[in-house]
Amino acid sequence: MLFDLDLIRTVYGTFANRVDAARKAAGTPLTLTEKILYAHLFDADGTKLPIGHAYVRGTDYVNFRPDRVAMQDATAQMALLQFMNAGRDRSAVPASVHCDHLIQADMGADKDLPTANSANREVYGFLSSVSNRYGIGFWKPGAGIIHQVVLENYAFPGGMMVGTDSHTPNAGGLGMIAIGVGGADAVDVMAGIPWELKMPKIIGVKLTGKLGGWASPKDVILKLAGILTVKGGTNAVIEYFGDGAAALSATGKATICNMGAEVGATCSLFPYDEAMERYLRATGRTEVADGANALGDNLRADAEVAADPGKYYDRVIEIDLSALEPYINGPFTPDAAHTISEFGAFVREKGIPQQMEVGLVGSCTNSSYQDMGRAASVARQAKTKDLKVKAEFIINPGSEQVRYTAERDGILGDLTAIGGVIMANACGPCIGQWARHTDDPTRPNSIVTSFNRNFAKRADGNPNTHAFVASPELVTALTIAGDLTFNPLTDTLTNEKGEPVRLDPPQGDELPRQGFGVKDNGYIAPDTANRGEVAIDPQSKRLQRLEPFAPWDGGDFTELRLLIQAAGKCTTDHISMAGPWLRFRGHLENISDNLLMGAVNRFNGQTNSVLNPLTGAYEGVSAVAKQLKAQGIGSIIVAEENYGEGSSREHAALEPRFLNAKVVLVKSFARIHETNLKKQGMLALTFADGADYDRIREDDRISVTGLKTFAPGSRMTITLLHSDGTSESFEALHTYNEQQIGWFRAGSALNS
Ligand code: SF4
Repeated sequence: MLFDLDLIRTVYGTFANRVDAARKAAGTPLTLTEKILYAHLFDADGTKLPIGHAYVRGTDYVNFRPDRVAMQDATAQMALLQFMNAGRDRSAVPASVHCDHLIQADMGADKDLPTANSANREVYGFLSSVSNRYGIGFWKPGAGIIHQVVLENYAFPGGMMVGTDSHTPNAGGLGMIAIGVGGADAVDVMAGIPWELKMPKIIGVKLTGKLGGWASPKDVILKLAGILTVKGGTNAVIEYFGDGAAALSATGKATICNMGAEVGATCSLFPYDEAMERYLRATGRTEVADGANALGDNLRADAEVAADPGKYYDRVIEIDLSALEPYINGPFTPDAAHTISEFGAFVREKGIPQQMEVGLVGSCTNSSYQDMGRAASVARQAKTKDLKVKAEFIINPGSEQVRYTAERDGILGDLTAIGGVIMANACGPCIGQWARHTDDPTRPNSIVTSFNRNFAKRADGNPNTHAFVASPELVTALTIAGDLTFNPLTDTLTNEKGEPVRLDPPQGDELPRQGFGVKDNGYIAPDTANRGEVAIDPQSKRLQRLEPFAPWDGGDFTELRLLIQAAGKCTTDHISMAGPWLRFRGHLENISDNLLMGAVNRFNGQTNSVLNPLTGAYEGVSAVAKQLKAQGIGSIIVAEENYGEGSSREHAALEPRFLNAKVVLVKSFARIHETNLKKQGMLALTFADGADYDRIREDDRISVTGLKTFAPGSRMTITLLHSDGTSESFEALHTYNEQQIGWFRAGSALNS
């Protein structure tokens, strides 16, 4: 479907001039990332840059004007509750809301969708009324997963958008700078005020050769995740280039960009090419394809960059697609990369349950028509080769358009013929919305998904589920085999007749031969003639109007109590769990009950069990925080590396703020979460020396001084007053700029 053509024409109308101006100002050839970013500077056209000076990557904060905003239902609630306090009558840019996160996968789409509509009636009602009120497009439950719907309808080459979901970069598959942000950032863009981002570094990934056999786009990013790890892309855009890039479908490119979030990248991006053009035309956007064609080289890196990438990118990585093996990553982290040929030995060596119990195809990462088709081509072989399928099989199509077309073309029939259950066009198990049918929800077991994340407990809440991520076709092959160690490239399976058979490599059309079809795509346009009012029941347990946070009182933080010192990984899932807690995403007070309940307390190795300094007892994190808050005592959270990794979930910043935590002190932050903390008026600090983490004792009183001289680049002093009367001090760093310090002083970005 074609939306906002006028907006796209306006962007394209000025794009070339802005790129020329930026190139002149910078005095150097430009990468594609720079072209799009400079074309979206908040202040006009980049000509304000002095000649010979470009923004310094990794250092300068820059104000941008993104073209649009997308929000999923779980994060949209808080984003729009904040927007309602911003004093605007309409969103300043086109925006959309997508109801995809709150639908539980249980019996299949036919039963699950009505159940979700009934269980979430209040939230869906709020989202549709607030969307209508402020001129925002609304995609009803069952319409599809936000990023697939954005790719099919809104993304355009050379555009820039933000989305309140960390896999927003999926739109990079259509050459768009698409960045996952917290709700407060989305509010900035919808309010028409500058949206600030640190000028990212740029990692160039050169793709050569061509995928073949079982290798798929997913394997490109699974391999890259192993190279870069979950932190390697922090504050960087990953820009792909090379002949291999052009050989990938647009949805394959989107898969790769989607999972750039797993290496912490700001976003990922492919240059405009014929695959994108084909996809735009196939999804009813001929005018956009024509406009992009007219921009030509403006939608690719300059020739000098491609010729000498080491000179223009901050880092260059090369991947030969012809030599790429299928990967399977996990468990518990998406950067634990294993080639399929090494994987069996890994499973045996680590004692991982070898039986593959459930295969899951879907999520925004891999739910396109091509993904479904390639999975189906493997599924068909179970029938034709007399194979008994050994594992459960669950499929979530990415959108109603994909589902309808795949059903029409017999693809869904092939998947259900081997026992596959078609769930709603929604996130489902990928966000923990999974009523898993199991004999024991705590038993160690293994599953393989085509999702992007596999943190402990994410899919089914069971910490003993070993979840692995792989391509949809590999998921299907392993589902048939029911054995994690099966390698379809080399191994045979024994069929019902006792014969050894081999699975052939997957096949699948890039785009439907008869074109996409759909009866009701699930879109509801805002009714400009009847905008209505937004009603929130004060008694609601799921929605609550927001009260502004109090401004900084002008003093240092003295004698804060340690709320938790988290050991090891602490993702936004650990800080603010999803699954059953999703229902409270619009009610800050109620969802704050889950604060840090997944984080491991360094002092006792347990989750959700921390020392209550008021009583000496061990209690849940939020219970302790509430008691401290009731006494007017502030608290501090301490953690290790890449704190807040995983998602743009701003509840992970709002909850500690609401419960009177003042400071988060860590060895390092994940980018989006650090910004979210700043936006909510929290003090986000890092240890100057990571070894100081070990100095902290469980019953310390902790002071932070240096707030009165808080300035860009300043240092804070942390003083630990131990219970034995001794004390010690060390330094902490921050990355606040002037504007962000203003947010801290005002109590939040919204207050400033
Ligand atoms: S990663 Fe999973 S939960 Fe997040 S948008 Fe994609 S499908 Fe939904």
